[in-house]
Amino acid sequence: MAEIINVSAIAKTEKEKLKSRILTYKAEGKPVPTLATVLVGEDPGSVYYLEMQKKNLEALGGTMLKITLAEDTSEEDLLSMIGELNGDDKVHGIMVLFPLPKHINEERVAESISKDKDVDGVNPINIGLLASTSGGVAPCTPSSVVEILKNIHGELKGKHAVIIGRSNIVGKPLIQLLLREHMTVTVCHSRTSNLPMMARSGEILISAMGRPLMIDEKYVSEGATVIDVGTSELDGKIVGDCDLESVLQKAAYATKVPGGVGTLTTTILIRTLLDLYDESFRK
Ligand code: NAP
Repeated sequence: MAEIINVSAIAKTEKEKLKSRILTYKAEGKPVPTLATVLVGEDPGSVYYLEMQKKNLEALGGTMLKITLAEDTSEEDLLSMIGELNGDDKVHGIMVLFPLPKHINEERVAESISKDKDVDGVNPINIGLLASTSGGVAPCTPSSVVEILKNIHGELKGKHAVIIGRSNIVGKPLIQLLLREHMTVTVCHSRTSNLPMMARSGEILISAMGRPLMIDEKYVSEGATVIDVGTSELDGKIVGDCDLESVLQKAAYATKVPGGVGTLTTTILIRTLLDLYDESFRK
């Protein structure tokens, strides 16, 4: 019987662990874990996301320093603000909301965030460390996918996953995270030939394209687990890459959108914040 994965329950369990970690810090007389966020402009989606993130973090006992800069802020001023946050001992993680206005070079901004406070793994040093060592910081979306897979399957070693999408923020870091789990990984993209056949070759299918409802049962092998990372707007509604009803004709497990991967990402971001926090006390 096909099952829709209860990602909210996974998030709830993870939140309990994070809450107890923060209570331990408090008992040890350590400072409150603090995430600094920097938004340039007033993109409504980002404003809403930050409000949710703040609520979640505060509910667990952490705190968020929300910095909003005007849309016409210069790159120099943004870099100087990040420099200040890098040097501030009270700040344990920094997240700059992308995309940035066109006059700001995103690569330069990503490089400017201290690798030790880079909570969403955008600094190229962390990207390199993720690929070449057991360290580095992974972005919260691919980390959430791994968390969901571990919850469903326990051991991932030897399983074959097909990822559709090779972006820097989802597909590429996910390759590294799945390889760390000793999985076999196939990566597909817009130039892949015979995508349905490639997709069916995996016992796990992860779609991160942003192509509304494109994935149906033709892409799914019997008994597969399907993780839908895509979020798009279609006729005023948020939908994923998967046509869930069709996918569930073949899959054993699948996530839905909304209420899937996105339900876990803010929690995983807080877990990364706490990992960076712990690391800062080891130095
Ligand atoms: P992106 O940078 O646009 O990358 C999309 C990837 O999908 C690219 O690698 C592209 O291939 C591939 N692709 C596009 N159309 C395809 C097709 N018809 N067949 C095969 N491959 C195709 O997007 P992203 O930032 O990775 O985000 C992907 C989706 O995940 C979006 O819907 C986004 O909103 C969502 N997302 C969700 C969360 C969450 O928390 N749930 C977080 C981040 C992103 P090429 O490389 O060849 O162009």
